Amino acid sequence: MKIKAAVMREVGSPLTVEELEIAPPKENEVLIKTTASGICHSDYSVLHGVLGTPMPAVLGHEGAGVVEEVGPGVTHVKPGDHVVVSLSPSCGKCPMCLEEREYLCMEMSKASNGSCMMDGTTRLSNGDESVHQLLAIASFAEKMVIPAGCAVKVRDDAPLETCCIIGCGVTTGTGAAVNTADIQPGDSAAVIGCGGVGLSILQGAAIKGANPLIAIDPVLEKRELALSLGATHAIDPFNEDLKKTVREITGKGVQFAFEALGSMKTINDAYSILRPSGEAIIVGVASLHEKYELPVANLFAEKEFRGSVYGSSRPKRDLPLFVDWYMEGKLKLDEVITKRIKLEDVNQAFEEMSRGEGARSVIMFD
Ligand SMILES: [Zn+2]
Ligand SMILES: [Zn+2]
Repeated sequence: MKIKAAVMREVGSPLTVEELEIAPPKENEVLIKTTASGICHSDYSVLHGVLGTPMPAVLGHEGAGVVEEVGPGVTHVKPGDHVVVSLSPSCGKCPMCLEEREYLCMEMSKASNGSCMMDGTTRLSNGDESVHQLLAIASFAEKMVIPAGCAVKVRDDAPLETCCIIGCGVTTGTGAAVNTADIQPGDSAAVIGCGGVGLSILQGAAIKGANPLIAIDPVLEKRELALSLGATHAIDPFNEDLKKTVREITGKGVQFAFEALGSMKTINDAYSILRPSGEAIIVGVASLHEKYELPVANLFAEKEFRGSVYGSSRPKRDLPLFVDWYMEGKLKLDEVITKRIKLEDVNQAFEEMSRGEGARSVIMFD
């Protein structure tokens, strides 16, 4: 079967929209007709070599669509089901899955290192050349074959063209606030970086009752969006003294500082605005070769520093829950999606991302 997909052939070069062959699903795999795919900052990081992938590769990992065919052994979804694609294959057999920590499923590294299916091969090709699938997903394509555990069934009445962003950004962000962190009502929190992930953290923190809740971003429209989504204060870190302003708002710093950009500068910023006993939760993905330097003095104020992966989520529980929250109006997603585009316009969306514009662009398929 032929499909159209956006292929990365060279680090830093525009993706090329190509006609690829997609093979049918094998055992424990699912074929999905893509309805929509968000464009995540991690796709940008892969394109620019900050995160690696073998090439050629179809990028995209924030997808939703309708099941078209299932391979042998798949019983939890059937053709016609609506699914949001999870980043975790949730194999159900590895030690982390057995501990109910599917967000750390050990099969995930196969998909992320090899950009391939669990058996090390891919279902995409262009003539004789096999084409890799980012995170075993490759959602910048009209159809996807993904590991069965990545296909999470959601309610039929939820719009997939919006719920696609739950697949990565929303689960990563909202999950960090509601799963990774233990926010009690009235705890202070700050979010550094108010793109798709940051705004999701912010909304999760607001649902948990964080107050004050401080949005930190240099872009005015993102700060305004953050304020409309539950932030009580917003700071422009380029024009205000971050540490001093956070102190003015909170008295002694924040209990929870979430970092959603993955830059060393903002990771340090997150740690620097904590109150004693506060926790810096690093959600953004920095280059995997970077190292942190932490001031030892902060350990004596019991300041903690931890990562959050995929919102510490259990996809089969959390993805449908976040869909429910969206349908109930608790979680605002339409406001986070700043642009809907065609597959052919994906490179333009990356350029806008490099300029820090907009929160989330979503590719729509026919
Ligand atoms: Zn992502
Ligand atoms: Zn597993």
